[in-house]
Amino acid sequence: MSLFENQIPLLKPWLDEKEAAEVRKVIFSGWVSQGPKVIEFEKEVSKYVGAKFAVATNSCTSALHLSLIISGVEAGDEVICPAFTCMATADAIIHSGGIPIFADIEPNTFNIDPDHVAELVNERTKAIMAVHQIGLPADIDALQKIARQQGLFIVEDAACTLGAKYKDRYVGGLGNPTCFSFHPRKTITTGEGGMLLTNDEEKAERARILRSHGASISDLVRHKALGCLQHEYVAAGFNYRMTDMQAAIGLVQLKKIEKIIQQRLEQAQYYNEQLTKIEDIKPPFVPKYATHAYTSYLITVESSKVDRDTLLTRLTEKGVSCRRGIQPLYKEPYFHTALGKYELPRTEYAAHNTLFLPIFPGLQKSQQDYIIKSIKDSLKM
Ligand SMILES: *Cc1c(COP(=O)(O)O)cnc(C)c1O
Repeated sequence: MSLFENQIPLLKPWLDEKEAAEVRKVIFSGWVSQGPKVIEFEKEVSKYVGAKFAVATNSCTSALHLSLIISGVEAGDEVICPAFTCMATADAIIHSGGIPIFADIEPNTFNIDPDHVAELVNERTKAIMAVHQIGLPADIDALQKIARQQGLFIVEDAACTLGAKYKDRYVGGLGNPTCFSFHPRKTITTGEGGMLLTNDEEKAERARILRSHGASISDLVRHKALGCLQHEYVAAGFNYRMTDMQAAIGLVQLKKIEKIIQQRLEQAQYYNEQLTKIEDIKPPFVPKYATHAYTSYLITVESSKVDRDTLLTRLTEKGVSCRRGIQPLYKEPYFHTALGKYELPRTEYAAHNTLFLPIFPGLQKSQQDYIIKSIKDSLKM
């Protein structure tokens, strides 16, 4: 029996015999932890996005944590980020000792608003965490300008934006430390996993050392040297390593990436075409400077009669899985006591009025037709 019987899922990773065969090879190779497959996966991803160095990790959250440390965030430093994002963005800042300062988003792209960032900069500000949300690049050049003027650095949270382009260059190759996620809700998946991309060799090396308990030499190098090499612990690090089994899956997934993005793009175009015909529904906006990876498809519900939550309930009843848009981080219980009071109007509008629709490789046109019809019917009632 299928896991999603009679229900169109929100997402479904595209994994098949090829991934299974590659994992099988790794299992029987005798080397299952971070090893040759991880190195190969790092090379392929860095080549794909056009960055010099890649450091694979067990999640994007840990990659973000490492990026902030290697960039020099210290206790008490303020890091400006959006609130319309995954908790992981703030987790990474907090665990590096930094304080997340939330900026509002642009009303059309749902990405961090550079003008609001500029207003928030003060003498305690150390960095900007630019989040490329839902598969759409944020306006990096505008943020870069502020960073240059104010002496700040940028870390890019590109968890769900592998494969998208900003001004004809892939996100990940834009020059700042950039982190991807390989969770099933992102472009390609390894189950769990992440990667940090950078052009700075020293920072990459420091991230590699911190990834593995602060050890000066990797297990693989030590093993190949047949026990003659002894590593030293040069820092208090973490265990943020990816396994070779995950990397083997990632290598197969990366070969499929163009097909995955093409399918998502076609599905998004079909939704766009059909949904613009429905009054009160706004499809996602794509600015001229970017391409969208459509890792998720987020619509805005602007009806005065049927609100977003009612539409969500009705769609779910009809067998269409959907999710409400991202809730502002500052409304989460953790932040009630941890931070001052926030009220970001555009973030709140997006949180109240947006809805994620199913989009994934393999989603059928007939299923999209059913989803579109269900939206029309749900808005009529
Ligand atoms: C998914 C996501 C993360 C976290 O990625 P993990 O690999 O699950 O740690 C971080 N930031 C954003 C914007 C995300 O969408």
